[in-house]
Amino acid sequence: MEGIPFSRWLINYITNDRQWDLRILEDHFGNIDIERILSIPLALTPREDTLIWRHSDTGCYTVKSGYHLAASLESMEADSPSSSNRQWWNRFWSLKLTKKVKIFAWRFINDSLPTAADLMHRKISTSSACSLCLCAWECVGHALFCCTRAKAVWKISKCQVLMPNIGNLKGYDIFSYLATVNKDADLERIICIMWCIWSERNKEIHGSKPKVAEVICSYSDSYLAQYRKATAAAIPGTYTPRGEPSHVDSSCWRGLAHISLVCTRSPTESSPLCTALHSLLSPLVLAL
Ligand SMILES: [Zn+2]
Repeated sequence: MEGIPFSRWLINYITNDRQWDLRILEDHFGNIDIERILSIPLALTPREDTLIWRHSDTGCYTVKSGYHLAASLESMEADSPSSSNRQWWNRFWSLKLTKKVKIFAWRFINDSLPTAADLMHRKISTSSACSLCLCAWECVGHALFCCTRAKAVWKISKCQVLMPNIGNLKGYDIFSYLATVNKDADLERIICIMWCIWSERNKEIHGSKPKVAEVICSYSDSYLAQYRKATAAAIPGTYTPRGEPSHVDSSCWRGLAHISLVCTRSPTESSPLCTALHSLLSPLVLAL
């Protein structure tokens, strides 16, 4: 194994008693991948790692089997379900939200937020009870919509988000419903409020004083308004600031938006000064 990265060898992720080693998996993979890995049954007796091309009978790659795979993928691509699925995701990724809010929503859709139920399922916690109200099974539907705290925020927001049995639905089903009945602008607001509810839930679990629903709702709205204002200030086709508006000084955020207007479409079309500004701003904006 000398010279080969640790993560390449499957055997390193398996304990001596033939179980997946959760501690090492968590060092190398995200929650979604860990869940998939844990669902793979392990052979009772240890075997050496082997690379197998599963599209041929022998397990070895041949040009013919590669060609057949490429052809079948092409025909699958043309099928309508995958193309409508792609449109659905295109719509999601084009929503005007900060990256961290979109990533939160993506995790919600994929049921990978660490709710009490999720942690218990992964054997990290021994209780699936809601961390705030302690009176229900805490899945994403409960944490973000049905918990007493969440309900109070939705009531203030006047968003139409509640649907039958929402406390037991998967993130994808809840989001599909919300995306169907709401236009993009409303959907962006709903996602932003969901993110704020989740952030406040986490802060409260770690000892912060709970905030009242009005404060959470108005913070979410001002966060979204600030982001929309900053992104609307940039002329289409120009460099757009990609940071997170609320946790940086607002004058700094406005400054970045202003500087972005000075710069032309891309570093290659810019003056040396703008090229230098681009190279200075890119890591700075990413760091925000
Ligand atoms: Zn609760």
